[in-house]
Amino acid sequence: MSSIDFAALAERDHADPLAAKRNLFRIPTDTIYLDGNSLGLMTHATATRVQEVVQRQWANDGIKSWNQHDWVNLPSLVGDKIAPIIGAAPGQVICCDSISVNLFKVLSAAIKLQDGRTQVVSTQDNFPTDLYMVQGLSQLLGEKHCALTTVDENAILEQPSQFINEHTAVVLLTEVNFRTGRRLPLQQLIAHAHAVGALVIVDLAHSAGAMPVELDAWQADFAVGCTYKYLNGGPGAPAFVYVAKRHLQRLNQPLAGWFGHAQPFAFDPVYQPADTIKQMLSGTPSIIAMSAVDAALDAFTGVDLQQVREKSIALSELFLELLASYDFAHAFECISPADPRARGSQLSFAHDDAYAICQALIEANVIADFRAPNYLRVGFTPLYTSYTDIGVAVERLAAIMQEESYRAPRFQQRHAVT
Ligand SMILES: *Cc1c(COP(=O)(O)O)cnc(C)c1O
Repeated sequence: MSSIDFAALAERDHADPLAAKRNLFRIPTDTIYLDGNSLGLMTHATATRVQEVVQRQWANDGIKSWNQHDWVNLPSLVGDKIAPIIGAAPGQVICCDSISVNLFKVLSAAIKLQDGRTQVVSTQDNFPTDLYMVQGLSQLLGEKHCALTTVDENAILEQPSQFINEHTAVVLLTEVNFRTGRRLPLQQLIAHAHAVGALVIVDLAHSAGAMPVELDAWQADFAVGCTYKYLNGGPGAPAFVYVAKRHLQRLNQPLAGWFGHAQPFAFDPVYQPADTIKQMLSGTPSIIAMSAVDAALDAFTGVDLQQVREKSIALSELFLELLASYDFAHAFECISPADPRARGSQLSFAHDDAYAICQALIEANVIADFRAPNYLRVGFTPLYTSYTDIGVAVERLAAIMQEESYRAPRFQQRHAVT
């Protein structure tokens, strides 16, 4: 049995330097939202901005808006707004397409820069789309030009030279594992890869906006990330791509669309890539969606990402501590690293009934998610998750476990999206 000291949690919220940021967000009524690692919540400013783009710009100004409202530069403007969040100097980040598509572009470009080397090394438990993109490229170019090797995370850390060596063209690493929340020491792995002449592509899907990232300082070569998780850009919002300045001049990505041309409005029949980050663009940017991203990013104005990280750790440690005070806790096996520095901003628990428990939580307005085979994930978004939220979430979980309400048949029904 346990009882949660809500007065103490309220005090922690009161002392929280990020507490005021919560007011920027639309928090669904009576809801504890622990799924910002999958789809971040909407800010009030985002709703206003989308209305403005639709009702005023598009409706009144039509095509003139490309110039009048600077739509044409939105991908670069948003890219430069994301840049400081991921430790990049201006001119190296642009907003476009999805992580998947951007990965295809940077993978191809990186392999081309490495003529001779053909091996792409990644982790076995990487997010599937990352591996699929390498597999697709390998099918297109042939195994002789691009071959994927996947390695266990522990093995790559324990014996980096065995897997990242003079045969390696590209290392594709996701900083935070989507299933376990484990965080890889990127700086160290990048240094190792560079020492043997390999290039590194970093996937920041679960990092951008959740913790400090230092792409320039780590000397990453390329990076991709999405804007709909911790950056709160909206469902399917356009992603971002980073190319280190030193590679821009020699860059050659294969999805050579007119927006990546040196002079898109010259309508030249022959492709001539822009020698700036704009080369990463392919077709016409999705302005309504990108405007939402632009507005959502304003929530990060004045935010110290070190503070975000500290609060993320404090929230996750609080969750573990409160959970541990209940008898049912032993049935939840935490598969995330015990050391918070080795985690992202989520906790994952293995439980035989994880799916049904997750459904029961959602019915109780505690939004978590489920990942196969049997993991319950809870994400912490320091800009809007409060310490009180964690108390309420654990209390509602406790009620579900103690009453075994998750055993009801309606919670066993599998939905298309988990
Ligand atoms: C969420 C996520 C993706 C999603 O890719 P999309 O192309 O945006 O659908 C890719 N990689 C990782 C590591 C992710 O966590």
